[in-house]
Amino acid sequence: MLFSKLFPKPIKGGKKYDSANATFLINGGFVDQVMTGVYTFLPLGWRVLTKIENIIREEMNLIGQDMLMPGLSPKKLWEDTKRLETIDVLFQASGANKASRAMNDAEYILNCTQEDVITPIAKRFFSSYKDFPFALFHIQVKYRNEPRAKSGIMRGREFRMKDLYSFHTSEADLMEFYDNVAKPAYIKTFKRLGLGDSTVIALASGGDFTKNYSHEFQTLCDAGEDTLYHDTETDIYYNKEVVKDPESKKYEIVTSAEVGNIFPLNTKFSKAIDYTFTNESGEKLPVYMGSYGIGTTRVMGVIVEKHHDEQGIIWPANIAPYLVHLIGLDLQDPAVKEKAEKLYHKLLDEGIEVLYDDREEARAGEKFANADLIGNPIRLVISKRTEEKIEWKKRNEKESELISIDEVMNRIQSVK
Ligand code: ATP
Ligand code: MG
Repeated sequence: MLFSKLFPKPIKGGKKYDSANATFLINGGFVDQVMTGVYTFLPLGWRVLTKIENIIREEMNLIGQDMLMPGLSPKKLWEDTKRLETIDVLFQASGANKASRAMNDAEYILNCTQEDVITPIAKRFFSSYKDFPFALFHIQVKYRNEPRAKSGIMRGREFRMKDLYSFHTSEADLMEFYDNVAKPAYIKTFKRLGLGDSTVIALASGGDFTKNYSHEFQTLCDAGEDTLYHDTETDIYYNKEVVKDPESKKYEIVTSAEVGNIFPLNTKFSKAIDYTFTNESGEKLPVYMGSYGIGTTRVMGVIVEKHHDEQGIIWPANIAPYLVHLIGLDLQDPAVKEKAEKLYHKLLDEGIEVLYDDREEARAGEKFANADLIGNPIRLVISKRTEEKIEWKKRNEKESELISIDEVMNRIQSVK
C-alpha cells in the first residue's frame, strides 16, 4: 500500500483522549467517531479488526460452526424470553416510515446479544438426541444503549462480538464443553491475540442462569472498568461483584477489562420457548445451553492498551495492519526513489504486507512519527545515507541497524 494513497492520513497534532486506545486509534487514522460510542473502522483499523476476528474465527471453527445472524429482530423474540423488560440497554426501533405507515406498526430490536434469536432457530432444525451436542457461532455487530460509552472502542454503543452458543442433552455434557471452551480454546485465542500474559480467568456471577459462577476473561489493564479481587493464597481471581468478604487482607485488588466471558445458561432460554429434544425412549426433555462471548472491538482496544509507548502503538506482528513500514527519504533523488520502489515491489512479490511511505513532500520527522504512531512491527528506511544498505528497526527496539537486502529478507521471515 502506498502511503500517499492511504485513506485517511494520521491526524496532525491530534489531541489526547481518555485512553491510549482512543488517542492512538483516532489520531493514527484507524477509527473515526460517528457519535459517542459509535465508530467507523477506517482501512487501517479494519485490517487489524479483520485479523483479530480471523484468529478468533479459526479457533472457534475447531469447536463450532460459523454462521451469520441478523442485527435486527422482531420484538416478539424478546417478549418470549421475557428479556424485553430485564435488559436495560436494549435499543428498540419502530418500523413506521413513509412507505409503511399505514400498515406497519411492527417494532424491532437491534440485537444486543443473540440467545433470543438463536434458540428459536436451533429449535426449528434440531430436536432429536442424535443431533446433539452442537455449537454455532458468528461474529457480528451488537447494539447496546450503554449509559456511559467510553475508553475509545472498549465500550461502544455499537460494537462487534463473537458469540458462540452450544446445545446439549444434559448439564454434564454442557459443562464438559464449557470447560473445553475455557481451556484450551479461549486461552489459546487470547495468547494468539497477544494478551496471553495479561489475561486471567475470574469467577463472576452466574446471573439468573445458574447458581454456579460464570467465568470472565479479564485483561489486567488500567483503562478497564472492572475490579478484580485476587486471592493471593489460592491465586483465584474474583469479580468484585461476587466477593463476600472484601475486607479480607488476602486480596490484591486489580483493574481489568473484560475481553470475553462464558456462561452456563442451562435451561433458561430453552424453557422460555419450550425447546426440547426427544431422547432414546421418546421423552421430551429441555435442552441445555451455554453462551460464550468475545468482544472483538474491545479486544482491539485492549491490545492497544497493552502494546504501546509514548509515541504510538506497537502491534503484535500477526495483527498489525502491515508487517513492514517502509520509509523512503530523499525521494526527489531519482536513484534513491528507484531503490525504494524496487524494495517495495520485492517485498510485495514475496507476499509481505508493506506500507510504503512514498510521499515526496512529507518531512523525515513526520514520516518517522507516523510510523511510530501506526505501529507496524518492522520499520525500513531507504535514503541517500543508507547507500546500498537498508536501515532496519523493529517498532519495539530503540536502535536501528544498516543491513543488506538479503539480511532484511531473512529477518522478516523470523518476525512474521
Ligand atoms: P460488561 O460487563 O463489560 O458490560 P457484559 O458482561 O455485558 O460486558 P457480554 O454481554 O457478556 O458483556 O458480552 C460479551 C463480550 O462483549 C464482553 O466480554 C466484552 O468483551 C464485549 N462487550 C460487552 N459490552 C461491550 C461494549 N459496550 N462495547 C464493546 N465491547 C463490549
Ligand atoms: Mg460482564
